Amino acid sequence: NKMRKKIVAGNWKMNMNLQDGVALAKEINEALVADKPNCGVVICTPFIHLASVAQVLDQNVVGLGAEDCADKEKGAFTGEVSAEMVKSTGAQYVILGHSERRQYYGETAEILKDKVQLALKNGLKVIFCCGETLEEREGNKQNEVVKAELADSVFNLSAEEWKNIILAYEPIWAIGTGKTATSDQAEEMLAYIRSTVAEKYGKEAAEDTTILYGGSCKASNAPELFSKPNIDGGLIGGASLKAADFKGIIDAWK
Ligand code: PEP
Repeated sequence: NKMRKKIVAGNWKMNMNLQDGVALAKEINEALVADKPNCGVVICTPFIHLASVAQVLDQNVVGLGAEDCADKEKGAFTGEVSAEMVKSTGAQYVILGHSERRQYYGETAEILKDKVQLALKNGLKVIFCCGETLEEREGNKQNEVVKAELADSVFNLSAEEWKNIILAYEPIWAIGTGKTATSDQAEEMLAYIRSTVAEKYGKEAAEDTTILYGGSCKASNAPELFSKPNIDGGLIGGASLKAADFKGIIDAWK
């Protein structure tokens, strides 16, 4: 089913100061307004960029998202940024469950469940990440690991809430390493993920769910990855930091 929404989303991570970030957003926006993409495009930026980047994007062409949000609604949580604050900048998306947040900042399935709830409650669409470590893949545990990540943080959602979930499969061993999963490995996992979504929400909802691949995706491998029936686009780290590289991936949908 190639009818469901296709998305290429950038994840800037902790890169660029405010000025450089706004300049990149402008450049991406201009390129895509001039040459309309054949897919949805989202850029996810550090919190401090959001409000300024929102002002330079035509969000009919390039959507805006955060890379995280708090697991609490509001109050005495020094340094945290709530889903409501994110939404108030003009952002419409939030990445949750990125492996770097899970690994380096101790985000557990329980915390992620709360973050997802708050993001949806505040009208954000969630790009929810899952993926196994190299050790888990070598032990052939990737399916059970990914299924548990979904079951523990997002399969509690109602069918209505599910419509605002985008999934991103990012094998940890392929992130920022230059090692891409082969398109067959990625396709196999995305087909498996779609089957678990079907078990939970039904076949039709599963067919409508956008599932992205992430991990060293770039302009040179995107056409092959995106040609697979279950791969609906990409979540892009390193290659989202230059307008030409990012546009090169988006053009894989043409
Ligand atoms: C990511 O961390 O979301 C990612 C896909 O990174 P990279 O493209 O740099 O591997």
